[in-house]
Amino acid sequence: MIEVLKRITRRDFIMPFYHAVSDKVPVHLKYLYRVRTVKQFEDDLEFLLLHYKPVSIDDVYSSLITKGRYPEKSFLLTFDDGLREFKEFAYPVIKKRGIPVALFVNSGFVDNKELFYRFKASVLIETLRNTNVERFKCIYDSLMVNTDKRNTVIDKVKQIDFKNKDILDQLAGCLGVDFNEYLKNNAPYLNVEELKELNDDGVHVGAHSINHPLFELLNDEERMFQIKESVDFVKNNFKNSLASFSFPFTDSGLSASFFRNIYDKKIADITFGTSGIKNERFKFHLQRIPVEEYEVSMKDILARQYLYYLLKVPFFRNTVRR
Ligand SMILES: [Zn+2]
Repeated sequence: MIEVLKRITRRDFIMPFYHAVSDKVPVHLKYLYRVRTVKQFEDDLEFLLLHYKPVSIDDVYSSLITKGRYPEKSFLLTFDDGLREFKEFAYPVIKKRGIPVALFVNSGFVDNKELFYRFKASVLIETLRNTNVERFKCIYDSLMVNTDKRNTVIDKVKQIDFKNKDILDQLAGCLGVDFNEYLKNNAPYLNVEELKELNDDGVHVGAHSINHPLFELLNDEERMFQIKESVDFVKNNFKNSLASFSFPFTDSGLSASFFRNIYDKKIADITFGTSGIKNERFKFHLQRIPVEEYEVSMKDILARQYLYYLLKVPFFRNTVRR
């Protein structure tokens, strides 16, 4: 099935991406992703290795430079956010199979300096599920909702975006949640020393912005600052032959001239999005496949991606428009 889809779509290079692998999903990830267990992750890799050759980010870049196209019949494995579960559970499985991997980190979160606002939301949802909502008038004031329905309150928390993320801190106050304590007790992020160890072991460390904003909500100056700062942080701390950047959430809404600037001004050599199997006008911008949206096998994820790609061929909708 996959072999047929590879042939008819003529897309035999794929880039699945993950955040974490764990048998026990930490609270800050619980309401955001369907985190794979170690066994599920092993099955994913077995399937990938059966149908594709593992390549490194440097292999991809040099293929783009020398041949002007993606490497053939291959896959590039990447992880976003620089989480503890990468080193603890994913990397041993990856290393055992000799698969190259890239890990993208947020300069503002490394060393557990701060908790990503979506992780805060996940922690608060867990607390709200175990709290008598009626008891917290304070929650209604912060959220500007007037309801006793727990699910309505939880939905409101899920909708909080980068621009009004401070509400999450107010809610934490209402619910008696201390995010600094949470950071200290759980250490969700890897620290610089751990990342250096991984980097010395061959893991490519790339940038993923300072504090994970939705780029659509920023202006071009703020966007460029987020990229530059995090890429510089990576350059100053780790040894990589390429400056890489993966866009937090999505790159949608960003103009062609913005992308042109990134490569012309050499702010990054290679960048990544999250739109699945898609073609790009920009040679050094590549779209990856989110694995943690559905709890289905890698085979089903890829089949779905390929079919979706095929469906859009007649409408020329497989190239991202900017
Ligand atoms: Zn991310």
